Parts: sequence; C-alpha cells; structure tokens
Amino acid sequence: MTSEEQGIALSDFVPQPTLVTEEHAIGKAKFPAVDAHNHLGWWEAEKADELVALMDEAGLRTIVSLDGGRRENLEDHLDAYPRKHPGRFVVFTRVAWNEAEDPQFPARAAEQLRRDVEAGARGLKVSKTLGLRARNPEGDLYRADDDRLAPVWQACAEVGIPVLIHIADPVAFFQPLDGRNERWEELHRHQGWHFFKPEFPSFDDLMQQQENLVAAHPKTTFISAHVGSYAENLAWISGMFDRYPNYYVDISARIAELGRQPYTTREWFLKYADRILFGTDSRPNAGTYRIHWRFLETADEYFNYSLADPPGQGRWRIYGVHLPDGVLRKVYHDNAARLIDLG
Ligand SMILES: [Zn+2]
Repeated sequence: MTSEEQGIALSDFVPQPTLVTEEHAIGKAKFPAVDAHNHLGWWEAEKADELVALMDEAGLRTIVSLDGGRRENLEDHLDAYPRKHPGRFVVFTRVAWNEAEDPQFPARAAEQLRRDVEAGARGLKVSKTLGLRARNPEGDLYRADDDRLAPVWQACAEVGIPVLIHIADPVAFFQPLDGRNERWEELHRHQGWHFFKPEFPSFDDLMQQQENLVAAHPKTTFISAHVGSYAENLAWISGMFDRYPNYYVDISARIAELGRQPYTTREWFLKYADRILFGTDSRPNAGTYRIHWRFLETADEYFNYSLADPPGQGRWRIYGVHLPDGVLRKVYHDNAARLIDLG
C-alpha cells in the first residue's frame, strides 16, 4: 500500500479551504459593545489596566464578569474591576448551590443576594449546576422549575437585577457518543460534558424546566446564556421570545451554531433585535473579538469561528450575517444597557 492509500487519523486532518472570497478584518466593533457574558476569573486581577487597553482597541465599552460568585471573592472582584474602572466592568454574583440540600437554602440565598447587590453586584449568574448537579433536600437533582427556589428569583425581581442562567448544554452532549455525534471530538476531549447517562435529565426535560421557570416568574428578567442552550433550534428560542417578554438570550460561545445557519440567524436577529445580547464567554482576546465582529458585521463566507484549527465545537465553518446598524447597536449595547446597571 502506498501512504496515499493508508489514510490519516481524523485528528491529523486539518483541511485548508482554497476558496477565494472577500475577507474583512474588523479590529474594532462598529459601535461600543458590551460583552455581557465573560469570566474575569480567567484574567489576572492586577492586570486590569491592560484589559482596559485591550477593550479600547477592540471597541468594548464594558465587560460583564460572571465570576463575582464565590462570596469571599465578590469584594476582591469588585475592587479589581468596577471600583477601579467604573463603567468598564460589571460583576454578577452567584449563590451556593452546593448548599441547596439544606431546606433553608432558598431563603438564605435570597438574603445573600440582597447583600451582594448592596455591595455592588449587578446580576445573578446561575450555572448549569442547576439542573445537572445541585441536590434538593430529598437528595435528588433540583429541578430549575422547583417552586421552592422561588424566593431566589423573586429577590432578583425585587432588587431589579437580571438572572443570567445557563441551563443544559449543546444538544449533542445529550446524545449517544458514537460516530454519528457531531460533537464527538469535543466530547472525547471533555468527557465530563457528556450527559447521555441515566443520572442526568434529557435535553428536552431541561428545556421544559427552562420554560416553566421563565413562565412562573414574569417579573424576573432572565438572560439565557448561549442562545438559551438551543442555538440549534432558533424556532424554539423564537417561541420563547414570543411567549415570555421577560426572556432574553446572549450569543456567547454559540457563533459556531449561529454562523452555520446564516439565513435563519440573520432573520432571527432582525426580528428579535431587542432580545439578543452580545457576549463571548471567552478570555478577552483581540483575535476572538475580531472573529465576532466579522461574524456580526460582514457577509464574509466560510471562515473559522475560532482561533483554533480545527475549531473546538465541530468541523464546520461559518458565514457572516451582516447585521444592519440599528440591530448592531441593540445587540452590542442597548439591550444590555436596558437590562443591566452598567454604571
Ligand atoms: Zn460562561
């Protein structure tokens, strides 16, 4: 056999497109942008000045850090970012889901929330722990729509902060890990992200929990992370927008999904321009922001959605959705400014 007949491992297959199409390098967002989903736990607190310089270059007005969570860390996080650079950073807090088995947890969490907001937190971040890991007083998984958690959501409405909630994960993470799974390579690298196991709820169940939660608390504003965890099905997200005026999404970590269905995505942005927030969920990096600006602002075709090659979420490329200025302004800034006190 010649080496040409032997083949190569999939991991060695990194095809480089030979297409010759227009390419636009956009270093700076067209309008001042808010990254509504970031984690400055990934950054070095003593280098906040460097981060501000990076933001100025990329055209970012504000970064929302969802890492004000661990209680002892909230004050440090506030000191390092918003208190040092007012208007440029916002910090969200968290509640201690590892204490959720205690029947007093919801009341205690609600109280802690009020104190955190007084200290300077501007939102509550809820991770996918709720739905996949947190335990209720019976020792079972806490459902996101469990009535006992109502005090937490009510407290957010009362003090006027949004809940940025991540529920579930990509659909493929809830499917069998075999040769038909489109995220096989990613799941092979991160086996802890595979939820097709008896101890976990199904994807559909988690989407139902999400809907029940949003429906039961119309006075609470929910920003559902990663396009509501269902970027694969924008019709479903559109239904949520139609039914619940308190429901919003961020697009963080999902331009791979959005950019492979550019016609549907563009129509969706135009129709729901008031409900979609820009975000990255990625350590701040000029290159990563550039890819996002290119996706949102240009009609460039078939480009990598990531700095990695092959990109991590799947072996496909994306298309820009060339949003008009009015939509860009809302998605980049105005929607975030309406929902979050940006200082
Ligand atoms: Zn995140």
